[in-house]
Amino acid sequence: MSLASTRIVKASDTKACTGPILYWMDRDMRLADNWALLYAQELAHTRGVPLFIAYNAVPGFLGGGLRQWHFKIGALKELYADAAKYNIPFFVLTDDSGSDTPELIASFVSEHEVGAVVTDFSPLRIQRHWKDAVAARIPCPLIEVDAHNIVPVHVASQKKEFAAYTIRPKLHRLLPEYLTEFPALKTQEPTLTAPEPSWETLLAHPAIDTDVAPISWALPGERAAHAALERFIAERLPRYATERNDPLAEAQSDLSPYLHYGMLSAQRIALRVLSATDSRIEDALDSVKNKAKLDTETPELIDHVGAFLEELIVRRELSDNFCLYEPAYDTPEGFPEWVRRSHDAHRGDERETVYTREEFELGKTHDDLWNAAQREMVMGGKMHGYMRMYWAKKILEWTRSPEEAMEIAIYLNDKYEIDGRDPNGYAGIAWSIGGVHDRAWFVRPIFGQIRYMARSGCEKRFEVPAYIRAHS
Ligand code: FAD
Repeated sequence: MSLASTRIVKASDTKACTGPILYWMDRDMRLADNWALLYAQELAHTRGVPLFIAYNAVPGFLGGGLRQWHFKIGALKELYADAAKYNIPFFVLTDDSGSDTPELIASFVSEHEVGAVVTDFSPLRIQRHWKDAVAARIPCPLIEVDAHNIVPVHVASQKKEFAAYTIRPKLHRLLPEYLTEFPALKTQEPTLTAPEPSWETLLAHPAIDTDVAPISWALPGERAAHAALERFIAERLPRYATERNDPLAEAQSDLSPYLHYGMLSAQRIALRVLSATDSRIEDALDSVKNKAKLDTETPELIDHVGAFLEELIVRRELSDNFCLYEPAYDTPEGFPEWVRRSHDAHRGDERETVYTREEFELGKTHDDLWNAAQREMVMGGKMHGYMRMYWAKKILEWTRSPEEAMEIAIYLNDKYEIDGRDPNGYAGIAWSIGGVHDRAWFVRPIFGQIRYMARSGCEKRFEVPAYIRAHS
């Protein structure tokens, strides 16, 4: 069994067909370190047929606009050129004719007499629906490979996990087996050439909402992603455990755009962080169990590595687990039973302040800290991680119901965050508003047993006026 085949999530049981292998790239927009692409190449090699790649670019996907589209098209341009160096034709499909994704992929399969489709895995509803619909329409097999997670999500756990502490031992146990080096992508014999799209025309797609400007602090694509990783390791990793929750410290990695679009593999990040710091995975995982040490002793490099891998692996894979096993991951129906009871008991609580979605969107609340966080997201496309929790919890406090709070938070998150429309976003919002993966706290008005966050907590943690000045 190959390394890539151990990551197969699902394979339809259609009879094997002859013809080229198609890698339908969806969640993981990269050529390097991509288990789905590697599996597709392995299959093509075994059958002695060529390998093609197709990406279906869907304008307005899950509420994204020009900001997200610009990042995606930039990466596609690089992918098209880089795939050609391996003689792998890279087809960019778009939805001009009103066809939906399954139709586009199915007609590509029929036009090119494809023998098998390999695709990557996402736990989000729409992408799972696409995959089922394609599998039902094509005469050849569809094989789904988890190219996003280090431990494939369905291997890590077969049920919805309760919290980080329940999934952590499972991931820690499996990591030595799955955190392996990747084989290299191979150059294949020349085959047909995919037509190069007009990138300008694609960028100016009429269905794209141009309200929100592209980001300027990160370039799209695999090369930029690898450079960002090296910068993080050199400049920020040695401060990560102690400063990542300070929005002024610039200690987070800023790798989330690359992780979200799959332009960089989480597995590559983990391998590189370990090799660059000369650390062993076992020592990094051990340091997480020893977190109390951070409060009493000066952390060593291994503690920073451990803290970073905890977010990159455990928290991130927990989000995928939540979206895979909780069908209502984006509504309060997906909240735990104790939270729904608690929210119901506090529906009638008096709200001193209530804002509309528009007031939130324009950053017109009475709280200049909240408005600054909103501006950080609207203008820059990435709110600091610590502020995201405060931001979402205040939306719960200043709306009439958890349902409305959830809807507004997801709308804003997915419209403005460059890393939005991601399982981490749905899980992060559900954690903040719906106690998902958290525990019950002392009862308070409106929040019930949900963990509360106060501005005074931020004031103890960092210089709030400086943050407000930075985003005014
Ligand atoms: P780093 O701290 O450098 O972490 C590295 C990577 O680890 C991140 O890129 C991410 O993949 C993962 N990670 C870090 N923190 C978390 C976490 N709490 N949960 C899951 N994975 C984590 N993340 C998104 O990727 N997209 C979102 O839309 C998103 N929305 C959020 C909304 C709310 C309300 C909350 C509370 C959290 C949200 N997060 C989201 C999770 C987290 O805030 C971001 O992943 C992180 O701030 C991204 O910045 P970074 O890459 O510099 O993080």
